[in-house]
Amino acid sequence: MEFDYDLFVIGGGSGGVRAARLTAQDGHKVALAEESRMGGTCVIRGCVPKKLMVFASEYPEAVGFARDYGWDATIGKFDWSAFSTRMNQELDRLESVYETNAEKAGVKIYHSRVTVEDAHTIKLSDGQTCTAKHILIAAGGHPVRPDMKNADIGMVSDDVFNLKALPGKLLIVGGGYIGCEMAGIFNGLGVETSMFIRGAQILRGFDEETRGHIADCMARRGVTIHTGCAPVEIERRGDKVWVKGSNGHQEEFDDILWATGRKPNTRDLIAESVGVKLDRKGAIRVDDYSQTDVPSIFAIGDVTGRVELTPVAIREAVAFHETVFKGNKTPVDHDLIPTAVFTQPEMGTVGLSEEDAAEQEPTLVYATAFRPMQQAFAGGEERVLFKMLVSRETDKVLGVHIVGPGAGEMIQFVGVALKMGATKADFDRTCAVHPTMAEELVTLKEPVRVLD
Ligand code: NDP
Repeated sequence: MEFDYDLFVIGGGSGGVRAARLTAQDGHKVALAEESRMGGTCVIRGCVPKKLMVFASEYPEAVGFARDYGWDATIGKFDWSAFSTRMNQELDRLESVYETNAEKAGVKIYHSRVTVEDAHTIKLSDGQTCTAKHILIAAGGHPVRPDMKNADIGMVSDDVFNLKALPGKLLIVGGGYIGCEMAGIFNGLGVETSMFIRGAQILRGFDEETRGHIADCMARRGVTIHTGCAPVEIERRGDKVWVKGSNGHQEEFDDILWATGRKPNTRDLIAESVGVKLDRKGAIRVDDYSQTDVPSIFAIGDVTGRVELTPVAIREAVAFHETVFKGNKTPVDHDLIPTAVFTQPEMGTVGLSEEDAAEQEPTLVYATAFRPMQQAFAGGEERVLFKMLVSRETDKVLGVHIVGPGAGEMIQFVGVALKMGATKADFDRTCAVHPTMAEELVTLKEPVRVLD
């Protein structure tokens, strides 16, 4: 059978564009449909603008420290509108880089919403249909509000990047990646920031001690964290929003940010008759090769609900391309993914938490917390945390957790070591780089706890 394309990709985010470019560069006929802006969540309404906002929000502290280093420095006022204009220009530039690079590789781009009609057919919003030998769904996800009265009053993370002005006082609901990163950003920009966390601690799923350390630092920096507290009532009162929490706490805010999780973009995407199966959360069910229940249809990235991280989506794209177009069956390796959460202070983490390591096997816990030189000199009280979990039996490093400036940069290289199967002895025989914070990784002497 003749097809219009060898590959039709749905979604112009990091994963979709990578798969489309690689396949087109091999000389295959490739099309890609994107209903919104090229670049997807990461570039347009996620990692990139978020990180720019983190940078913007860190200047007051940096200028404060500069004074202790002898500079006659004052910070002045923050101009959101000037920053936001500049940020949006950068996003426009990146969007056009994504589009141009895909086109240069020979990808035909459709700026259209599409639906999957059968195993090989895509329907565009103007009614036109295309056929493809393979379909790759990389449609991403979107932030969700909880199902409660007046939830539409608040914004979600997509809206943050288009704010006309900063709120004076903000409530963030949810203590996951997005809630905690946004709390640091708004707090740093001078917004009075509170969080409602329905559980007992922020950042569920990460190492307990690390979570506690970050929460303490955030609170000391000015974020008010209400734990065991979910909103139960919300009302607009004039230009304020009144919120009542499940613990009885009531307060008025200028705005609410729902950071209560994300959902895969699968609604009305695939006709039921096609046979692609979704899981309970609406994510596309795939095997180790990103293949769905329909052999010609594959899915990668957030739409599969595996690990919602840009570099993972990109790896899934590369593995898909190898498997389908290079005849080299490549499973996606989801083991030991290093990651950073751009809280303030920042966290870098790879491998098991203390709790998971202890569950798995007898574990030695090495940890140290200290005031880093640059900040201590300026009178900073905040401590950095370095934590390493080591197998008692094999000496293998099972997990590393770092909280402090540059934690994301450091954990990248720790990730390489762990991927190579490094032992504690390997770290110990590596010479320290002095004076740095990272040297703690190779000078951890005695375990602080032994978990049998
Ligand atoms: P998360 O699932 O990480 O966090 C959702 C938070 O909202 C949790 O604290 C959850 O509480 C809370 N919550 C959920 N429903 C309700 C409710 N009805 N009422 C009150 N609280 C609620 O989602 P995010 O949106 O923060 O992030 C989504 C994903 O995006 C992440 O998992 C990550 O993979 C990715 N991401 C990665 C980043 C990075 O790499 N730096 C940055 C941003 C996002 P509870 O814990 O009790 O369930």
